[in-house]
Amino acid sequence: MAHIAFIGLGNMGGPMAVNLVKAGHKVTAFDLAAASREQARSDGASIAETAVGSVKGADVVITMLPAGKHVLSVWNEVISSMGKGALIIDCSTIDVESAKQAHALAAKHGIASVDAPVSGGTGGAKGATLTFMCGGEDKAFAAAKPVLDKMGKKIVHCGGGGAGQAAKICNNMILGISMIAVSEAFALAEKLGLSHQALFDVASTSSGQCWSLTTYCPVPGPVPTSPANNDYKPGFASALMVKDLTLAQDAAKAAGAATPLGKHAQEIYKAFDAAGHGGVDFSGIVQHVRELAGK
Ligand code: NAD
Repeated sequence: MAHIAFIGLGNMGGPMAVNLVKAGHKVTAFDLAAASREQARSDGASIAETAVGSVKGADVVITMLPAGKHVLSVWNEVISSMGKGALIIDCSTIDVESAKQAHALAAKHGIASVDAPVSGGTGGAKGATLTFMCGGEDKAFAAAKPVLDKMGKKIVHCGGGGAGQAAKICNNMILGISMIAVSEAFALAEKLGLSHQALFDVASTSSGQCWSLTTYCPVPGPVPTSPANNDYKPGFASALMVKDLTLAQDAAKAAGAATPLGKHAQEIYKAFDAAGHGGVDFSGIVQHVRELAGK
């Protein structure tokens, strides 16, 4: 079993680190927040007082942090304290440019690196059913896979450094757009006197079928497990959707890609967030879409 340093023990990182402990790995954990460190201690991890302290002697270092600036700052802090032959994996969702800079930093120090953002949310983090989208060299991916296997059910090698982040933001741009599309269809159906169930029964087996409809239906009723049946508690908060759609727009601008619907989806989610709904599940956008009528 490996000695793993885990840095960033928030809503996602905390339960992911626990799954590594459960799998029998020796986990040394660190977070800036004392409460998160205490939780990890009671879940069976060893606790370090600093990020550098956590990586000493580790075979694998994992970071799960809010944004690119945190990842670059932590990697800069710890990389020279890592042993030769060690591997560093970042599971945060960050911009492609920062991910590439992080890989370059690791390469400069002779450390193998993988960007491995996730989908599956806090439920997937707890249940070890996350999907990991990975970028990095073949050898680094091969070393990372057995560790990621203990936290997820699908591990995909998407290409070289940064490819995991690219896949993540492309996927979430589809998700943001498709959730608005499904919400607009339900809002129109309501005005036309068509029941939610009738639209669902038709569209879920017709060409309008998609994950936002069949797994995460934004109106209560047709899919009992969707957040619409639980007061739109996240799930995946709208503020995180704004973050991911903004990363997609930044990447599109830098790469010269045209993403008009992605841009519009970002604006719609930003308005929802600005109205105080950043903590509402992103499928709650259906409420905002209804309110747009007559504006
Ligand atoms: P979070 O805010 O709950 O956790 C982040 C943790 O990082 C916090 O505990 C914070 O104290 C810690 N931290 C910040 N700077 C640090 C530093 N310099 N050193 C050590 N610890 C530091 O966020 P989260 O929901 O766990 O998300 C983590 C990442 O996963 C984000 O990039 C997010 O976009 C991505 N993500 C989240 C979800 C989700 O549903 N929450 C789903 C997919 C991806």
